[in-house]
Amino acid sequence: MTLEIPATPAADVDDAAVDALRVSLGGTVLRPGDAGYDEARTIFNGMIDRKPGLIARCTSTGDVAKAVRFGRERGLVVSVRGGGHNVAGNAICDGGLMIDLTPMKGIRVDPAARTARAQGGVTWREFDRETQTYGLATTGGAISSTGIAGLTLGGGFGWLGRSYGMSCDNLISADVVLANGSVVTASADENADLFWGLRGGGGNFGVVTSFEYRLHPVTSILGGMLLYPFEQAGAVLRAARDFNQSAPDEMSIFGVLLTSPEGAKVVALLVCYNGPIEQGEARLRPLRESTKPMADLVAPITYEQQQTLLDEGFPFGLQNYWKSEFLKGLSDEAIDVLVEQFRIVPSPLSALVLEQFGGAYARVGAEETAFVHRDWDYNFVIISRWADPAEAEQNIQWTRGVWQAVQPFASGGVYVNYLEPGQEGADRIRAAYGPVYDRLVALKTKYDPSNFFRLNQNIKPSA
Ligand SMILES: Cc1cc2nc3c(=O)[nH]c(=O)nc-3n(C[C@H](O)[C@H](O)[C@H](O)COP(=O)(O)OP(=O)(O)OC[C@H]3O[C@@H](n4cnc5c(N)ncnc54)[C@H](O)[C@@H]3O)c2cc1C
Repeated sequence: MTLEIPATPAADVDDAAVDALRVSLGGTVLRPGDAGYDEARTIFNGMIDRKPGLIARCTSTGDVAKAVRFGRERGLVVSVRGGGHNVAGNAICDGGLMIDLTPMKGIRVDPAARTARAQGGVTWREFDRETQTYGLATTGGAISSTGIAGLTLGGGFGWLGRSYGMSCDNLISADVVLANGSVVTASADENADLFWGLRGGGGNFGVVTSFEYRLHPVTSILGGMLLYPFEQAGAVLRAARDFNQSAPDEMSIFGVLLTSPEGAKVVALLVCYNGPIEQGEARLRPLRESTKPMADLVAPITYEQQQTLLDEGFPFGLQNYWKSEFLKGLSDEAIDVLVEQFRIVPSPLSALVLEQFGGAYARVGAEETAFVHRDWDYNFVIISRWADPAEAEQNIQWTRGVWQAVQPFASGGVYVNYLEPGQEGADRIRAAYGPVYDRLVALKTKYDPSNFFRLNQNIKPSA
């Protein structure tokens, strides 16, 4: 039965109680007006401008448990911030309590066991830095400022995904603070139902304070990008699609329509070959020869270089409105639609991206984890970005128009981590969780019956 807690504004919490919380935490507590408050409430998407009544900047699992109990006892709306990268902006609430994991940066690598344990505020840049010290890595996001927490809980794709599966497939265990303030470990042997839900089901069930991952030997890779003029977009995307159909797991290619810094529309193939360099060169040769890039920036680089290759183009603070859809196959007709839609893009900061799937992603059973989109060939993402808030309408309209235009080719499934701001309605949540939606509702009802974590990706307990 749902006993949803009524929302009390955090501003109504008396100073004595806030002071007591301050004293009890290893971290800090911020209220509007405090030094650092505005910085702490700034997330990746500049469109989201919310003001929590309280921010608990936690440094440990104990801090998180205290903050959860504090919020629960006072009936506050609570949001949880990991890396703060999610475009939908669920990490931050208006008027409630934001449990901020940003200060939780601990990472410990066990090189012999090839595992790493990292706290919930770690970003992929920080994680890769530590694991690469030992020549190890796991699948992580392609922009290094993204948090490991939200990305892993929603699934997690990256350059290593076709070799080693999603980030969530590499999760061994997690420490979780539940809605009642208790702390549990979830793994294949302990709280296995929760462990299943954490691997793709989002942050619905509790606050994950640390993640333990399986690591793989990864050092240098063949990576970078091939660039072509926009007039070749259709031909290049077709060639890449044909190439991808028989590409080995070690090869990942993303097709991107974007605008160059000089203002010209271009098509890019982003490449990562995670294997011996000479082998990668040989395997890539047919694609290079058939498409003749105007700039060939693919070379042997370190994994950390590949992981930070795109960072400069993704600063915090721009207006972001993204929509996505998984695609089964990529027909000539679908490619033509993408090219035509990009021709009319209103902002030079926007891009259309085809993220290649297959390989190890597809070798995990559809319901083995709560991430179910294993069979699709591409994740298509409309990355819509602009600088001036006054330009929101035309950019959002363009995004929706592109999304509408690809519907004839769409699978009906969407990646929960790419849900757009303000569109987390029941249909899209169902599209994100597909056949495991009811199982996730049952799990939510067991672990969070009062819907305390109500902002975290929107699975509601059953009534
Ligand atoms: C520029 C950019 C690039 C991206 N690239 C990739 C990519 O390559 N691969 C990919 O898979 N995804 C990618 N994403 C999507 C990314 O996976 C999501 O944005 C993800 O939610 C980010 O995690 P975070 O911790 O930074 O986010 P946050 O905004 O902090 O959190 C996201 C959600 O998870 C919840 N949450 C956060 N931490 C916890 C926790 N410890 N316990 C419980 N709940 C928590 C939050 O409450 C929120 O609902 C990208 C996004 C952006 C903006």
